[in-house]
Amino acid sequence: MSRRISILGATGSVGSATLDLISRAEPGAFEFAALTANANVAALAEIARLHRPEIAVIGDERLAGELADALAGTGIATAAGPDALIEAASRPVDYTMAAIVGSAGLRPTAAALRAGSILALANKECLVCAGDYFMDLAETRGARILPVDSEHNAIFQAIYPGHEKHIRRIILTASGGPFRDWPVEKMSGVSRADALAHPVWSMGDKISIDSATLMNKGLEVIEACRLFRLSPEQVDVVVHRQSVIHGLVEYIDGSILAQLGSPDMRIPIASTLAWPERMETPSEPLNLAALARLDFEAPDETRFPALRIAREALLAGEGATSCLNAANEVAVEAFLAGRIGFLDIPGLVSDCLESMDRKSMLPKRFAGIDDALDVDRRARDIVSQCMTRIPA
Ligand code: NAD
Ligand code: MG
Repeated sequence: MSRRISILGATGSVGSATLDLISRAEPGAFEFAALTANANVAALAEIARLHRPEIAVIGDERLAGELADALAGTGIATAAGPDALIEAASRPVDYTMAAIVGSAGLRPTAAALRAGSILALANKECLVCAGDYFMDLAETRGARILPVDSEHNAIFQAIYPGHEKHIRRIILTASGGPFRDWPVEKMSGVSRADALAHPVWSMGDKISIDSATLMNKGLEVIEACRLFRLSPEQVDVVVHRQSVIHGLVEYIDGSILAQLGSPDMRIPIASTLAWPERMETPSEPLNLAALARLDFEAPDETRFPALRIAREALLAGEGATSCLNAANEVAVEAFLAGRIGFLDIPGLVSDCLESMDRKSMLPKRFAGIDDALDVDRRARDIVSQCMTRIPA
């Protein structure tokens, strides 16, 4: 029987890895309701021609005509704009891959959850900005969230069914990013290309920069607390440069269960696509003897303050974590555009958090996504103002 699926953010790194797995499956094993992208009409049209969804949706409203032209005569419906993304995400399916990057993914991902399917969640921003809302929504709608982020997927796999109550703590591994061995003096002058050159994973630009600042690990600590309903003290981070162990669960008796695998996103994605079964992937099998060693070290929060800032935001609540996320998105974009330096990123995030906290603009909990997006908008304005103080 074929499974009906949608991919939100189908042209990105996670979206492409998902399509790669599906291309290798038996013909007819999957059929597509919707494929979506933000602005790359050519890439969206190409995958739509190949995979034949009912509808292809482009986020940028101005590209409606271009997409319609690109898919004319194919019988594939097209639409554009934020509301069309939500409509597409709401279509009944067996499985949705939520792989839009950033807080732009909140509304479409919530729409998919409301439709009550299996939600493979790559977009970590949903849990960082409004985790309680998303977890409660999944529960009330009877939808199943399967984490795609490799560390969270590892933890999900290492939780022995029924033993959630016996977890002492979990450990998320971090590769340490491209600057893990760099002295801080050298880090102030890093280029966009240096920061995008991740030593282990191949990913989209935003998350690659977050991996270089370790903000990604900070976002993942927040994501883990909300997803697995753990307290911040129960989530540890260890730098593990080989990125072979992705996550570990320690139980109260001292047993630790871990998930290992080649650093290839197709492994966690496949585990969600096949869940509750397993499927083959083309990823390189692990050769432990060839690897010979696995290294671990504590993260250096002096050179990488983003991790500490994220933990402080987590303690402060959802207003702070939404603000952290939005300020970081704007700062990363500015760094990628060459507007600010690498070390300005955590500085700006911290300034934005302080400024909004002083004005009591950071509620502990949100009632819904509108509140989260309101803080998101304000944080973007404030961090943009802070940025004007940085000399060009
Ligand atoms: P990416 O930049 O490669 O792709 C993002 C996708 O989202 C693209 O299809 C893009 O068209 C779409 N998109 C971007 N902005 C949009 C908008 N405003 N409206 C609608 N669509 C929009 O990103 P990625 O690396 O694939 O990451 C996707 C998500 O998965 C992120 O939240 C990231 O943190 C998470 N994630 C990624 C990886 C990875 O290996 N790439 C690993 C773990 C988690
Ligand atoms: Mg990750």
